[in-house]
Amino acid sequence: MTSARAFVFPGIRSRVVFGSGTLAQLASEMDRLGRKRALLLATPQQRKDVEALADRLGSATAGVFAGAVMHTPVNVTRAAIAAFEQSRADCVIALGGGSSIGLGKAIALRTGADQIAIPTTYAGSEMTDILGETSGGEKTTRRDPAILPETVIYDVDLSLTLPKEMTVSSGLNAIAHAAEALYAADRNPILSLMAADAIRAFASALPAILANPAAKSARADALYGAWLCGAVLGGVSMALHHMLCHTLGGGFDTPHAQTHAILLPHTIGFNAAAVGDLLKPVSDALGGATPGKALHRFAARLDAPTRLRDLGLTESDLDRAAAIAARNPYFNPRPFGMAEIRTVLQDAWAGTEPPF
Ligand code: NAD
Repeated sequence: MTSARAFVFPGIRSRVVFGSGTLAQLASEMDRLGRKRALLLATPQQRKDVEALADRLGSATAGVFAGAVMHTPVNVTRAAIAAFEQSRADCVIALGGGSSIGLGKAIALRTGADQIAIPTTYAGSEMTDILGETSGGEKTTRRDPAILPETVIYDVDLSLTLPKEMTVSSGLNAIAHAAEALYAADRNPILSLMAADAIRAFASALPAILANPAAKSARADALYGAWLCGAVLGGVSMALHHMLCHTLGGGFDTPHAQTHAILLPHTIGFNAAAVGDLLKPVSDALGGATPGKALHRFAARLDAPTRLRDLGLTESDLDRAAAIAARNPYFNPRPFGMAEIRTVLQDAWAGTEPPF
């Protein structure tokens, strides 16, 4: 860090319970918030898990809504709020990845309900006061203190079932938060330390999980990294990488984690040329001459998705995406226009190795 640089550390506001078997503490965490009846949220794919949780909570379960989907469409939120009101719940519990947690946040924002998030991917939404929602094909994002979950329970055991492909993409999604935190305009030394430690955790955990998905210590390291990455995402502002993912996810409905995984080497490679040694923790942790190349090789080693064309995007989609993204007023450490964005997208579409 430049010693003369001033900073603001916004603090970390959620209560975090981390470990193996921590789901057993859910009822006492509800008590701690003074809550008696929870509406439980999940995606349709995790219905069985959330129903098992409902049985376990017994009379503290007010109802189950297993209709969460990616990018938090407003019509799904409306149906979930109707379920929340009908069940006379006094809080929500979101079990799953960013889709379930996003739904919990959308309900909390509109009803004031307390939230307990139980993340089972590495997306990091549980630690942020950010909500992205879609309506009529457009994604809007807002920040509000009411969006931040009161309590987050990380239970390593729940991450053991995350399929390999999603483990890798979601891990790279988390690394994206850490990488952009390192050069954020409002970065601070505490969150930069957390970001660097998170990248180190994923650098060893992801290959170990691929070799043995049931390896609990590697799963614990990855979930620990996810917590750190979520906290840095919640604490500083993101730049070009998140802006492009937002454009593609919101406008072209590309899958969230995979979009992050594919774009990451290219956006970070683009910015690496302008940020001095701020991204050094990336190349130090992953091993590589430059941050973009290190990320590209790490992704290839993990058999991660590497080409936007494999998500069904066409080159004319890239033209449209570049035009949308260039209109957005985001801070980025390296100035860019539509032509630069189009080049980054083209490289990510083809999956070529970034120059930096
Ligand atoms: P997701 O929540 O959609 O999960 C992907 C799939 O994996 C789902 O079918 C889910 O049920 C399943 N799954 C999750 N955990 C599993 C497990 N342990 N075992 C088996 N299956 C499991 O995907 P995601 O990438 O976690 O979240 C993406 C969403 O989160 C997007 O809508 C994105 O915008 C949002 N997000 C928001 C923020 C924020 O701060 N607001 C941050 C990150 C992501």
